[in-house]
Amino acid sequence: MRDLILRSIVLLIAVTMLANIPTNTSQAVTEDNPLLADWKGPYGGIPPFDRVQIPLFKPALETAMAENLAEIQRIANDPAPPNFENTIVAMERTGQALDRVGTLYGVWGATMSSPDYQAVQREMAPRLAAFNDQITQNEPLFKRIEAVYNSPAKAKLTPEQQRLAWLYYTNFVRAGARLGPEAKKRLSEINQQLAGLYTKFSLNVLAEETDQFIVLKSEDELAGLPQSLRDAAAAAAESKKQQPGTWVIMNTRSSIDPFLTYSDRRDLREKAWRMFVNRGDNGDEHDNNAIITEILQLRAERAKLLGYPTHAHWRLENSMAKTPERAMELMEAVWKPAVARVHEEVADMQALADKEGAKIKIEPWDYRYYMEKVRKAKFDLDQNEIKPYLQLEKLREGIFWVAGELFNFNFTPVTNVPVAHPDIRVWEVTDKTTKKHIGLWYFDPYARAGKRSGAWMNAYRTQERVNGEVTTIVSNNSNFVKGKPGEPVLISWDDATTMFHEFGHALHGLNSNVTYPSLSGTAVPRDYVEFPSQLLEHWLSTPEVLQKFALHYQTGKPIPQELVDKIKKSATFNQGFATVEYLSAALIDMKLHLAGDKKIDPDVFERETLAQLGMPKEIVMRHRTPQFLHVFSSDGYSAGYYSYLWSDVITADAFGAFVEGKGPYDRAVAERLRKYVFSVGNTVDPAEAYRAFRGRDPKVDALMKKRGFATKS
Ligand SMILES: [Zn+2]
Repeated sequence: MRDLILRSIVLLIAVTMLANIPTNTSQAVTEDNPLLADWKGPYGGIPPFDRVQIPLFKPALETAMAENLAEIQRIANDPAPPNFENTIVAMERTGQALDRVGTLYGVWGATMSSPDYQAVQREMAPRLAAFNDQITQNEPLFKRIEAVYNSPAKAKLTPEQQRLAWLYYTNFVRAGARLGPEAKKRLSEINQQLAGLYTKFSLNVLAEETDQFIVLKSEDELAGLPQSLRDAAAAAAESKKQQPGTWVIMNTRSSIDPFLTYSDRRDLREKAWRMFVNRGDNGDEHDNNAIITEILQLRAERAKLLGYPTHAHWRLENSMAKTPERAMELMEAVWKPAVARVHEEVADMQALADKEGAKIKIEPWDYRYYMEKVRKAKFDLDQNEIKPYLQLEKLREGIFWVAGELFNFNFTPVTNVPVAHPDIRVWEVTDKTTKKHIGLWYFDPYARAGKRSGAWMNAYRTQERVNGEVTTIVSNNSNFVKGKPGEPVLISWDDATTMFHEFGHALHGLNSNVTYPSLSGTAVPRDYVEFPSQLLEHWLSTPEVLQKFALHYQTGKPIPQELVDKIKKSATFNQGFATVEYLSAALIDMKLHLAGDKKIDPDVFERETLAQLGMPKEIVMRHRTPQFLHVFSSDGYSAGYYSYLWSDVITADAFGAFVEGKGPYDRAVAERLRKYVFSVGNTVDPAEAYRAFRGRDPKVDALMKKRGFATKS
């Protein structure tokens, strides 16, 4: 349940859609616009991050869109009868300039945002959506794609080519290619309106995370906070231009969660909790409720137009789950045992609070605080004891080592490529044996103003062979607080897990070995894409990694076995909380999108649905509706937040293949994993690919065991 991965902006917008042809008003500026140029330099060309200036984005996007439309028009008007080569492959070759600009534009939006960038974003979001519809609504183009898809010649194509033809055909149909002119026009209006609303929604959340914070003014208000947290809060106060000798708790998860875990001040915990869970819900100019109502109605109308009962049915059609009902079935099967576990967890916490004479009833702002105390009491495990062994840079070496063991990769630092910010570093990935170049890996680890919170992977260029041998460029991004010069950055066990997770996405991209860019790397169905990443998380706790890379930052000694045993023993601790906070959000997401065109008041819907579900009152959804970026900042994870659980069923089951073999470093199993999962992208139906790897379909048992829930036998 980490963050969403970002593909290039072009793929992001490929799921939304809308109209007006870009005009070439700024021709003079675009002629030598460096954002449009072919990527030059080593490794098959590298992104020119050093050439980016915000005023260049708009003319570059306009020119690239116009160029792409001209390319598409040539294919649509080709006098030769349609075939796979002159239609589908030709489409795969289009839009390269837009890919390049889109990558830079996306990186700036996610990691270097500023008011002048946001002005461009507000203007361009609907226009990029409009551009997409111009392609999917191009009648002669669709006729050609349809002809290729229905042609008897298709049977002679390779399985990868047949899947690509199917993907084009279904994507066009699903985007409304078969609708009449009136319906197409309305669809375009909807897509354009949605793109504008998504931008507003995201910027509102960003504003509340930036503008709101808590200033702590005395030692007394810091009670319970470990030194690392005090240092981070002091640095935050400086960045927020507060008086010296004050501390700031920011309104982001990486700041709030540790504060709720350690602060002895119950009043401040409540204040921080309320600030965080009310993002986008404060009845002011950044309130997202009305925007959500509008988004949901437009999505429902669009689904109807396209011939689906609801937005959820439309979104899930080509997923692994296929229908909302199957996704709901899985969520409901896990919900009950998870809630039962929460009641046990709360009882443990209440007993401890009573014993301490706290005279309180556990409330949501007490959960993390007492959970930590119960962890200490039950397992004699203090999270702060682990942290000195988790150095960011050592763990980075650890993930490289794992990639070497599983996939025979080698990582070498390179300094001859431009980066968007001096904190970003780059490595070349090669094959250990053949020394062949595989790709580049960019690492952007630290938080800064204008960077969105969370952690994610992004592909700057995908592997493919249709335009010659093109190697991939991927990145991992996170928000660690940069340490003082010369001091190692220490991270939590959770953050270390996230690092392995995001690196799993990167390895999915780096292992890609396909022909067509649309099928490359992480371009798989939403409920399958978290499988490779969640699987990688399992390697953090392997003895090999801990012995070699979990080294104390002062003594250099590996983490003691006794501490590792405690971590292992407490592995299923608090899974009630983690599962319920996630699953409540996933259930609300799905139910919102199954409600059809009913006019929805998000606050009321959330309250009533959670009551019906029997949501424990001590927990709040991981993302409340007014701040649910996964669902309302794009179509991305809408009716798709269940994907993390769906993928985790596969993940837990897949790790079993290693356990049943020679363990996590079993070369034969790793080779099967590479062959059937990490290298195939979307060239094979994921269910089939998984069966090829495991010899059968995934079973839910391993997930229940992993989370420590009882299963009916
Ligand atoms: Zn992920």
